[in-house]
Amino acid sequence: FEIEEDAFYLLVFHSGGGLIAYAESPAGNRMVYAQDRKGPPKKKIVVLGTGWAGTSFLKDLDISTYDVQLVSPRNYFAFTPLLPSVTCGTVEARSIVEPVRNIIKKRNGEIKFWEAECLKIDPVQKKVFCRSNIENLAGNNEFTLEYDFLVVALGARVNTFNTPGVLKHCHFLKEVEDAQRIRRAVIDCFEKAVLPGLTEEERRMNLHFVIVGGGPTGVEFAAELHDFVHEDIVKTYASVKDLVRITVIQSGDHILNTFDERISSFAERKFKRDGIEVITGHRVMGVTDRMINMKAKATGVDTSISHGMVVWSTGVGTRPVVRDFMERIGQDDRRALATDEWLRVKGCDDVYALGDCATEDIAEIFKAADKDHSGTLTIEEFHDVIDDIVIRYPQVEVYLKSKHLAHVTDLLKDKFVNNREEVDIEGFKLALSLVDKQTKSLPATAQVAAQQGAYLSSCFNKREECLQNPEGPRKFRSGGRHEFLPFRYRHLGQFAPLGGEQAAAELPGDWVSMGRSTQWLWYSIYASKQVSWRTRFLVIGDWMRRYIFGRDSSGI
Ligand code: FAD
Repeated sequence: FEIEEDAFYLLVFHSGGGLIAYAESPAGNRMVYAQDRKGPPKKKIVVLGTGWAGTSFLKDLDISTYDVQLVSPRNYFAFTPLLPSVTCGTVEARSIVEPVRNIIKKRNGEIKFWEAECLKIDPVQKKVFCRSNIENLAGNNEFTLEYDFLVVALGARVNTFNTPGVLKHCHFLKEVEDAQRIRRAVIDCFEKAVLPGLTEEERRMNLHFVIVGGGPTGVEFAAELHDFVHEDIVKTYASVKDLVRITVIQSGDHILNTFDERISSFAERKFKRDGIEVITGHRVMGVTDRMINMKAKATGVDTSISHGMVVWSTGVGTRPVVRDFMERIGQDDRRALATDEWLRVKGCDDVYALGDCATEDIAEIFKAADKDHSGTLTIEEFHDVIDDIVIRYPQVEVYLKSKHLAHVTDLLKDKFVNNREEVDIEGFKLALSLVDKQTKSLPATAQVAAQQGAYLSSCFNKREECLQNPEGPRKFRSGGRHEFLPFRYRHLGQFAPLGGEQAAAELPGDWVSMGRSTQWLWYSIYASKQVSWRTRFLVIGDWMRRYIFGRDSSGI
């Protein structure tokens, strides 16, 4: 493209990399030149899931360099920490969801969203098979997407441990619809209890609310329900107010056992004062429409209690599509997709996994410590491994303080170190299962998912630069070099709202805070963490509405 001397010319570059040039010489010769795009076509990224991990990944991704497609059966993001508040109408469901289209709009609308479910991932052909959820769609509602990079952020489903009757007779608290169902079911229990012709025993049974699982979600729901009943419901169903009972069944020795033990005992004392019954050391063996059967772990004695409604909240399990993918890549003996420190799924190329559906493979830490590949670790190396785990999994510090990790370390030492001066690499699997059990790897929380999403988008944004400069930062631990620093989780603390305007919090730097002031801290943090000003206003508005008018008992 030659430009004559003294010519007037205009060059226009567009963000996709194209160029348009116009030139006009004083003699009147004109020339237009257009080049569609410079360089190779954009790489295709397919993101599965619109939860914490998926949306956090998209928030900062440089979409000018990638062709991004997003797939999820849910066309909104849900702020899950406020789900327990939705169950009792403290906050409305609509206030905690942000439409995916709004999120896309903020990214200049350049991300394509398909409201569909991913059915299958084929890592060999680099394809995902999807089905649209929209009913009555004419023709075939299945389609295939090709990817250069796949980001799996599919979350997890509830874990029933295959306990009989749970799927049929229990409520879960995982999705917005679950919270709405619970809200209706709670009110239905009260409506049933006031019907004429029931015995007092039947009324009591209808008003016995049982929560299985004493983790943060179960405890928060129990506290919300207690507040709802005692602040609002008693006024509308006064005749049965004394028959209400709330019970939490926990298989461990304490509720909130992933928190500092001061918080566990504060919560237990508060629940006792509030009349919320806590049954610890019991495993639920089966649930029917009226009864819960459980076994005492220490004595093996079976007991049964009647219930009006059960909420099952005992941790997370694997989604079928993730399970199928794991089987394809030889990871079928795990709960979640094993990734390396860069969140790359092991056993396939260009697939990344984040959030609840993924877990970093702790085995790598043990393998990396075996520097001479002898299959054994010296005691020093063994201690390095434990130190490394503590650095890489900051929440382990909590266990250290409550002696859990020290206990695990002792167990490992007894098993593999004593009398041998070396740790047998064959014993790693057992060692790992012990460590994994205590550290739970990274916790399945929004905090982890969001940090992983932000980390991965920063890696993708720097990808081109790193390809041109492969001698990037030194590879962590095992020597060699790698383009990106590995993912590091920063634990920012955790909250447990306990009802009656009280909460407990574990904050960085060994801070434990409990009581009313902590509840105000909770309000401010959760208001600030909202994904948009719209949801922030709605949530704060709901809190004020509840404060002034109370919660309504319509169940809608
Ligand atoms: P999710 O947020 O569950 O997102 C998964 C996404 O995948 C969804 O969009 C879903 O629709 C989509 N999907 C599912 N199947 C398919 C498919 N086949 N194809 C395509 N897409 C699919 N964490 C905290 O840190 N603090 C808290 O206070 C807290 N409170 C919680 C309270 C409750 C009641 C619950 C349930 C969880 C809470 N968590 C909390 C945990 C937190 O919500 C999860 O760890 C977090 O949601 C994990 O993010 P994710 O992106 O991995 O999964």
